[in-house]
Amino acid sequence: MSNASLVIANWKMNGNRALTRNMSEVLRDNQADFKGVNVVICPPYTLLSEMAGHIYYDDVALGAQNVSEYESGAHTGEVSVAMLQELGVEYVLLGLSERRAEQHESDQLVAAKAATVTQAGLTAVICVGEDKAQREADNTWSVIQAQLEKSLAGLSATQMARVVVAYEPIWAIGTGETASPAQAQEVHAKIRGWLVENYQQVGAKTPLLYGGSVKANNAESLFSEADINGGLIGGASLNGEDFCAICRAAKG
Ligand code: PEP
Repeated sequence: MSNASLVIANWKMNGNRALTRNMSEVLRDNQADFKGVNVVICPPYTLLSEMAGHIYYDDVALGAQNVSEYESGAHTGEVSVAMLQELGVEYVLLGLSERRAEQHESDQLVAAKAATVTQAGLTAVICVGEDKAQREADNTWSVIQAQLEKSLAGLSATQMARVVVAYEPIWAIGTGETASPAQAQEVHAKIRGWLVENYQQVGAKTPLLYGGSVKANNAESLFSEADINGGLIGGASLNGEDFCAICRAAKG
């Protein structure tokens, strides 16, 4: 049985107008198959407006891949939460390993962005995960616990109610190598325990997503684990049929 109820597509720096149209048509034609599963599409900034014009189905929402920690002002090249809200964006991805590595985003910056996002009433999707060397050195949990502590620092219970946590082992992102359902569940169970300890009932309800080479053929086994509440999907979210198959797996 599936325990999943949220599937998020992260297009990264991919896609074009044709894909927004194609994806929305495929989602529309297949939506009955995954009714009740919340689906979020995060295209690049430049396609948000186009995508907003196409998404009009129940259970499909719009997400952004990043946001500024500032509300407005002299921050050339940045995009504010208010600008995203004006387009109908409801979710923002934060702390993806690619941004941590390429843009040198720290846990402190992720926390500042999470505060801005949740204060405005949007949902922050906070990504955490260990690299291969950290896993091999048996440091997986200490790395993730530190990321959780620092990336969620200062959020109130009300703000925490607008947080989704995504476990994305770096060694599994875009590599085709997936954590086994048991490996993913082991980490998810620890994250759940940490959330309950720190945020009680709110933490018990925080959706926990798994990300890292989730495909149509492995989604069902991952989503059947007790503490895996859905997926954050990169490569397989660029093809409508593949992405719908993952959404179907979430429905179970
Ligand atoms: C991601 O984009 O967050 C991701 C997990 O990518 P992929 O599914 O391609 O591994």
